[in-house]
Amino acid sequence: MNLIMKAKILMIRKMIMIIILSIGGGDKLKTITVMVPAYNEEKVLEQFYNRVFDIMNKIKKYDFELLFINDGSTDKTLDIIKALREKDKRITYVDLSRNFGKEIAMSAGFDYVRGDSVIIMDADLQDPPELIPEMVELWERGYDDVYGKRSSREGESWIKKTSSYVFYRVLEKVSKVPIQTDTGDFRLLSSKALESLKQLRETQRYTKGLFSLIGHKKIAIEYVRAPRAAGKTKWNYLKLINLAIEGITSFTTIPLRISSILGFQISLLSFLYMLKVIIEKLFFNSSIPGYPSLMSVILFLGGIQLIGLGIIGEYLARVFNETKQRPLYFINEYSGEKDE
Ligand code: UDP
Ligand code: MG
Repeated sequence: MNLIMKAKILMIRKMIMIIILSIGGGDKLKTITVMVPAYNEEKVLEQFYNRVFDIMNKIKKYDFELLFINDGSTDKTLDIIKALREKDKRITYVDLSRNFGKEIAMSAGFDYVRGDSVIIMDADLQDPPELIPEMVELWERGYDDVYGKRSSREGESWIKKTSSYVFYRVLEKVSKVPIQTDTGDFRLLSSKALESLKQLRETQRYTKGLFSLIGHKKIAIEYVRAPRAAGKTKWNYLKLINLAIEGITSFTTIPLRISSILGFQISLLSFLYMLKVIIEKLFFNSSIPGYPSLMSVILFLGGIQLIGLGIIGEYLARVFNETKQRPLYFINEYSGEKDE
């Protein structure tokens, strides 16, 4: 009898606890992190903050975190971020120990996201913050990767536009995973997608490809990419070419295949040519032109061999870098409390 009473009381207690917990838990809003890699962006940061601030305040359903990754800026970027944090505690920042480049800055950011989803944005307002509500809505409907697709790019040279068009089309053709064309890093990721991404610790990163690699439920939002609001772009053609090589080599081994196929074809051709030379010499006793043909064949084959070696070298260098297993980045300081 007594035991039954005790059990009943315990049950009632448990139920009360559950009710209290669920009411308490219901009060806490989910958090969305807006993650912004910034390198020498002093000219545009305040303007950026003001635009994002309006949007963050408009969306009442969620708490926001505005996470800046200071990628070793040499100007006042970090000071400005700190001053903004004084005003608005939703701002957190990670200060990297030097300039690591945007790809690594982003992966550092992923490690410090506290929200239930993350929106990656450039600091220069090329990605319109006004798209955030729509992204959030699609996330609520169950999408894990809501990515911005550029319907047009204003303020960029036709060379950059054409080369990026060609590059994406080539990459799409040769890589094994479907690559989203005309998309940048501007997107919302669910916590599921974020967790998947965090497991990819490769040092030579082509993040745009990694977004495709992880899969999950994706949907595009079209937008017009605005010109940079202030300050200067950090990209130059050398960096773009490097990124393109990164993209190709980290997503496909087709260049290796091409060089071996080319090798076979050239061997076949040279074999036929050799037959011709032998037959001419044996049966027709014709004199064979020496120096010019020899020279051109040697130079041609030498060139092909060097290209082949270079391609192998590119892949070997990647193997070399990955085997070192170095940490991706080092930080000076993190503003927030990691365990919230
Ligand atoms: N960025 C960075 N580290 C770098 C270069 C750029 O964190 O080494 C950031 C930069 O502050 C900006 C974003 O990456 O928020 C995009 O850079 P940028 O606008 O220069 O590139 P573009 O839009 O011209 O491709
Ligand atoms: Mg930009």
